[in-house]
Amino acid sequence: MLVHTIAEVREKIKEWKKEGLTVGLVPTMGALHSGHKSLIEKSVEKCDRTVVSVFVNPIQFCPGEDLEKYPRTLEADEKLCTEAGVDIVFAPSPKEMYGEGHIMSSDFLTYVIPPYFYVDKLCGKSRTGHFDGVCTVVNKLFNIVQPDFAFFGEKDRQQLIILKKMVKDLNIPVEIVPCPIIREESGLALSSRNKYLSEEDKKHALALSKILFNIKACYDKGINDVSSLTETAYSYLSEHHELEYLEFRDADDLEEKVNADDNTIVFIALKVANVRLIDNIALR
Ligand code: AMP
Repeated sequence: MLVHTIAEVREKIKEWKKEGLTVGLVPTMGALHSGHKSLIEKSVEKCDRTVVSVFVNPIQFCPGEDLEKYPRTLEADEKLCTEAGVDIVFAPSPKEMYGEGHIMSSDFLTYVIPPYFYVDKLCGKSRTGHFDGVCTVVNKLFNIVQPDFAFFGEKDRQQLIILKKMVKDLNIPVEIVPCPIIREESGLALSSRNKYLSEEDKKHALALSKILFNIKACYDKGINDVSSLTETAYSYLSEHHELEYLEFRDADDLEEKVNADDNTIVFIALKVANVRLIDNIALR
């Protein structure tokens, strides 16, 4: 069932809670692919009822980013959800979420701001305010849907770590369920932004997963100092790549690692044909 208003969602949730049913939430920005589908399937399997939100959240985009051109494919998204057994597809307008006449900044709206230590690095460094927008919208979705479980992909690992911290710090009664990264056979992590890439660009985009898989293979052979592990990475890069970061960080609090261990995540972000792509791998 496709719904556009908060009131309609609340009504259904009230019914379900009265019946003692568990609710799973899968927050997305739409343009759904097999990565999203894996989260949805997990929720449908684990919970009595599943809500998928489809909302291109304006407050998590920075000036100059792709808010306007971000792919919007609601009809196809709804079909995928229905086939997967989703009970509600919640697709609100920005006005429904943030009201009319507001300037959607933290000067005019109540925001949820994650700790600086978690956002002054990796994607937070170049995307100022991005995680404020993410935490604010996810908090709102939690308040609207009141899910028992919420499903997030490890593809956006910094986001996942920040949201876990938010839930813990704000005592939100929801269990965050992390879901593994779904990749194409080539190794490329699925992403709605892959739609911006030509076939040729996609070949260049394989550098991300190749670098990560290579680092993991070296770690598995017993190499653990970060400078040795990154040595070969640069050989995968060419004039087609603009590397933003390649960093080794703790899986729980994002502290930088000098020596990799089993609790290390390797994070990478780079641009191919001006499209910003991210990926990561756990070294466990
Ligand atoms: P998005 O629509 O990009 O905001 O993503 C919605 C959710 O789907 C987030 O929790 C993402 O981490 C997750 N997701 C996106 N791509 C993948 C993927 N390739 N594998 C697993 N989860 C993903």
